[in-house]
Amino acid sequence: MAADTSTTNPVRIIPLGGLGEIGLNLMAVECGGRAVIIDCGVMFPEEPLLGAGLYVPDFEWLASGRTAIDAIFLTHAHEDHIGALPHLLRHINAPVYGTEVTLAYASRRLKERGYDGAADLRRVRPRERVEHGPFGIEFIRVTHSTPDSLALALSTPAGTIVHTGDFKIDEAPVDGEHFDRQRFAELGAQGVALLLSDSTNVEREGRSGSESSMRPVLRDLVSRTRGRFILSAFSSHLHRIRQVVEVSREFGRRVVPLGRRMGESVRLGIETGQLAFAAGTFIDPSEAEFLEARRLTYLAGGSQGEPLSALAKLGSDTHPRVHIEQNDTIVLSSRFIPGNERTINTLVNRLFKRGAAVYYDAIAPVHVSGHAARDELAEMIRLVKPDNFVPIHGEYRHLVRHASLAAEMGIAERNRFLLEDGDTLVLTGAGAKRGREVPAGRVLVEGDVASDPALVGERRALARDGTITAVVVVSAATGALIGGPELVSRGVVGGDGTSAHMLLARAELEQRLRTMRGRLRAGDPVLHDEIVRTVKRYFGETLGKRPLVVPHVMEV
Ligand SMILES: [Zn+2]
Ligand SMILES: [Zn+2]
Repeated sequence: MAADTSTTNPVRIIPLGGLGEIGLNLMAVECGGRAVIIDCGVMFPEEPLLGAGLYVPDFEWLASGRTAIDAIFLTHAHEDHIGALPHLLRHINAPVYGTEVTLAYASRRLKERGYDGAADLRRVRPRERVEHGPFGIEFIRVTHSTPDSLALALSTPAGTIVHTGDFKIDEAPVDGEHFDRQRFAELGAQGVALLLSDSTNVEREGRSGSESSMRPVLRDLVSRTRGRFILSAFSSHLHRIRQVVEVSREFGRRVVPLGRRMGESVRLGIETGQLAFAAGTFIDPSEAEFLEARRLTYLAGGSQGEPLSALAKLGSDTHPRVHIEQNDTIVLSSRFIPGNERTINTLVNRLFKRGAAVYYDAIAPVHVSGHAARDELAEMIRLVKPDNFVPIHGEYRHLVRHASLAAEMGIAERNRFLLEDGDTLVLTGAGAKRGREVPAGRVLVEGDVASDPALVGERRALARDGTITAVVVVSAATGALIGGPELVSRGVVGGDGTSAHMLLARAELEQRLRTMRGRLRAGDPVLHDEIVRTVKRYFGETLGKRPLVVPHVMEV
């Protein structure tokens, strides 16, 4: 009798993003040459000067064609889980599963990115199950900072794998949809080969607290506000938005979404029933102009200090329709993401200068996290009782700390695996071990095209060390240097080019050009290189800077 190969095939866990950074979440689970994908997210560059681009995971391994991709599962609507879907669907063709809210955001993202292929979006509900190749995939409700979020349980030939997605354990969820503790416990009782769990808030003690604890805080702030009430939160945080709308209605305020993204999100919230309010609750900024300030609540994006956001415009008083005044209250209802603090602080100062009362995480309890803190993470391990454990969704230190939490929970060292993007884990019925690495990384895209890495390098140099333009005039007839070099600095040294460093750098370049052999010609790459090298060397040796040097050679 032939052996059933599906029970002997090992299952490979292949993280291609999200293990080593918060963002870019993408994982493949493969068995016998067939795979499913969990999430497909983006990450925003930390350095704003890198432009409007964003990172997507490197799809090299997925696009190589060696493995058939049967399906894509989206755990929830956040950008770090769905944002790269349009890019992925250019490489592979597979059905995409998600809940109603998740798919609403995903299809908006597909449209925005001009993805004209007909994506096969399949709506699922918690506790449903689908089959794909060697896998059965079950959807389990979790609570998080966007509605309709899922964990996944994959039954595979090597046992059950639980992927938590992003989660917290909210005991009093705003929409009444509870974290499905019972189902996790049932799976744990049946036996789970591997748990992959969200590490974001492993550094926080205790529990995250319920989202509904925000309601009395918002109610108190709204009740004390005599002017406009402005809430700035992530646009996909429909539970937070729902609570501020409820409180606003109680005090006779209409709600005005500001900005395209917030407007879209409110519209999706209404369409999916997450923001079920009477007609007339939400109004346009133009309608709001006819109402008194104390009758208005505004929803504004930009709580991370994003330069073109509604909140930034309010801070600089450049919003075409809304101007902050005394008696207005502004609440930045989100965490300051590390790296953004300076920009946010500048924004907060500006908002104070406009005379508003400003509340933010550091001074008032105006935010609760959507990610499980340590006690909830421990509870997840206790519920699922996994044989093996891999921390996911975190920077390296989060993964390390989550692995040591698992150790405290009694998971032996041989059963804990610290994987980074591109590392793999092989599960057999008998146990788990590390497998061979696969290519992984990130690609910066602007619009729909991958950016030239040289361009990114140039922007870094510009941001850090400034730029120097070197103008050189040569004779078309003789190839001799007849003018310049002139050096113009932006951000390298101050002044008008007569500073000692500029004069010395100029002298050194001139000396170099005069000793170059042969005729100097405008299009000569050797000449260009020589100019760049000489100027860079001067500023490197004297000031420790590596400015971007732009040569301009003119023939006359
Ligand atoms: Zn999330
Ligand atoms: Zn996430």
